[in-house]
Amino acid sequence: MSYPTQPTASHFINGQYVEDTDGAAIEVIYPATGEVIATVHSATPAIIDAALDAARAAQAAWAAMTGTERGRILRRAADMMRAANHDLSVLETYDTGKPYQETSVVDATSGADALEYFGGMAATLTGEHIPLGEDWVYTRREPLGVCVGIGAWNYPTQIACWKGAPALACGNAMVFKPSETTPLCALKVAEILHAAGLPKGLYNVIQGMGDVGAALVADARVDKVSLTGSVPTGRKVYAAAAEGIKHVTMELGGKSPLIIFDDADLENAVSGAILGNFYSSGQVCSNGTRVFVHKAIKHAFLKRLTERLATAVIGDPMDPQTSFGPMVSERQTSIVLDYIAKGQAEGARLVFGGARMDRAGFYVQPTVFADVHDDMIIARQEIFGPVMAVLDFDDETDVLARANDTEFGLAAGVFTCDLTRAHRIAAGFQAGTCYINTYNDAPVEAPFGGSKASGVGRENSKAAIEHYSQIKSVYVRMGDLEAPF
Ligand code: NDP
Repeated sequence: MSYPTQPTASHFINGQYVEDTDGAAIEVIYPATGEVIATVHSATPAIIDAALDAARAAQAAWAAMTGTERGRILRRAADMMRAANHDLSVLETYDTGKPYQETSVVDATSGADALEYFGGMAATLTGEHIPLGEDWVYTRREPLGVCVGIGAWNYPTQIACWKGAPALACGNAMVFKPSETTPLCALKVAEILHAAGLPKGLYNVIQGMGDVGAALVADARVDKVSLTGSVPTGRKVYAAAAEGIKHVTMELGGKSPLIIFDDADLENAVSGAILGNFYSSGQVCSNGTRVFVHKAIKHAFLKRLTERLATAVIGDPMDPQTSFGPMVSERQTSIVLDYIAKGQAEGARLVFGGARMDRAGFYVQPTVFADVHDDMIIARQEIFGPVMAVLDFDDETDVLARANDTEFGLAAGVFTCDLTRAHRIAAGFQAGTCYINTYNDAPVEAPFGGSKASGVGRENSKAAIEHYSQIKSVYVRMGDLEAPF
């Protein structure tokens, strides 16, 4: 199979594609058909060294440029990504299986947003002047050095940009390791950045599984690690980074609540539940997979939800009409089917879907369980697939406590037309990203990230700058200095 914008080698190091076939072969599988569409090779120790050395060598000169110069390159890369949106979206669909209907409006576009936003901000990153009588202190906002980005497989272009753009804006260099399931898109991000004028060595992409990620995290040449992944991987990476007292950003998993009160606009609430459970076939970290529905509207909600799910266009992800595609991999398919079986075994009521589809590729039906209880496995563990759990409630205080009764704290949402209740609930949620009468928006201008086990740090917005830079204080004495002897 040939497809547009095919990367020409496994790795991108020091401004060019690099191959090393000594590394273990990783087959790239198109999730819609199960066909192998490319093979890349895992990074050998020589490749890891080359990437880290290139990043180290390039970083100081990049940091010495003005923010305006750095930002101009990032904004040019944003324009180039937008111009290439169609081809990049097709590649994203081959890499992940997500429908072109989604990838054409979400992936390269949100990557470009991040490059534009942080490119625009680069020139504004300054310190402050702190007067101390006639003496004074000034602060310098300085880069961290070499940052490692490690990505999950659901948004490979977006994750590569959400980490790369603020890192580069602040004057850092980056070595990015995509998930081995979706290795292609980040290579195109590297290619575009360098075509836009990024000096070589500043954004490197190397392939590999967890062992390559672990080698990067442990390396003394690395100053910061930003991971998007599951909580178990986050625990390992956080612990390994702690050995070297490295800065970290952890964007981890969730089991987020979505509360729908009986005064909510029903159509909007159903839209929120669909967006928060079935977009990207449910493979979204912030999904509101525990849907608490007020008892008074439970039947009406389930009726409209199932009516609308029946209109999903499931099929060829390249067809612009298709609105629901496959899971990313056979492995993720079987994980999701296992959870569906557990839900049935635990006595949850299956009201929609529940099966693998009889076609090539990794298709699982959009699935809804009703009458789910808080202690069921499908209400406690992240499934990362198109499985919605609907739980009943009738009391506001009680449902908020139930919503917060989880180790996770990534996102949370509420649908209600009661203005004060909406804000009361948002204030009460133990989650980093909350939604009122909407779900899963992630504009680059707003901080995104989790509390509790769902993460450390924030991506996007001005908040990300704090996680890719550090403050140096410089004390200045204007007069003579006294000493005790
Ligand atoms: P994983 O945690 O399995 O993997 C994440 C990345 O870490 C992959 O690149 C993986 O490599 C790598 N990795 C695995 N082990 C190690 C290690 N010991 N040291 C360093 N790197 C390692 O997550 P998935 O790829 O399965 O993605 C799904 C998860 O990501 C879900 O839990 C989801 O909620 C979360 N996620 C969070 C987001 C957020 O912003 N909060 C956004 C998107 C997803 P490889 O897989 O190649 O072996």
